[in-house]
Amino acid sequence: MTYNLAEKTWPMIENYLKIKNSILLSVGSTEQHGPTGIIGIDYLSSWEIAKKVGEETGTLVAPPLCFGMAQHHMAFPGTMSLTPVTFIQVICELIQSLYRHGFRDFTVVNGHGGNIPSLNAAFSQILGNDEECRFRLVNWWHLPEVQSYENKHFGDKNGFHATCGEISVTQYTHPEAYKEIPKLKFEATTSEHPWPLSPIQFRKTFPDGRMGSDPSLATAAHGEEIFKIAVAAIAQKLRNNTKG
Ligand SMILES: [Zn+2]
Repeated sequence: MTYNLAEKTWPMIENYLKIKNSILLSVGSTEQHGPTGIIGIDYLSSWEIAKKVGEETGTLVAPPLCFGMAQHHMAFPGTMSLTPVTFIQVICELIQSLYRHGFRDFTVVNGHGGNIPSLNAAFSQILGNDEECRFRLVNWWHLPEVQSYENKHFGDKNGFHATCGEISVTQYTHPEAYKEIPKLKFEATTSEHPWPLSPIQFRKTFPDGRMGSDPSLATAAHGEEIFKIAVAAIAQKLRNNTKG
């Protein structure tokens, strides 16, 4: 059974709200992921994970937000970004829409590190209006269960952007997209750099878009494992009502 809000009618949502006030939102980004990672990784991964968590826990899932705060990737073609102020506003207005209908417990499954400060700012903004809601932010790649799998299989070649883990997940969920992408060899180098970086500074520091990863280690088989680990860990948080 689907728990995708987009595939329900309003009376179905009204009935759901009589017994439950929780909802999952997936937030991603549309941004470059190195020469071998697809541009939609951050929203596709968080959306697929959120949908599966919804099915496993009987929790509604809002349609995905495909865009996030990706200003630093703007020197790479295909990236589409909101500014932090706009992104915060979009999150606030979407959550307030749901709040108005009676949703109070919001689990945000996030797929992009650059969204974290803005998501926390949006939650503070909403809570500042004395609204009685609860937020759980889950950055799926930060889950200890996911990190321990990635450390074991990729070590320090996982990197920080265009990571082996996130590319693997979308190789599993979107295999067709990867058929056209050439296999390349990489060197996983890390460098000291200030943060945040402007788009031009980012491209100078990370010329092919990766940050310290060797994405040639990514496979759909790893992706399937990481996907299952992330879904199980988030579903457990929802069942136990523990924080993000
Ligand atoms: Zn990413």
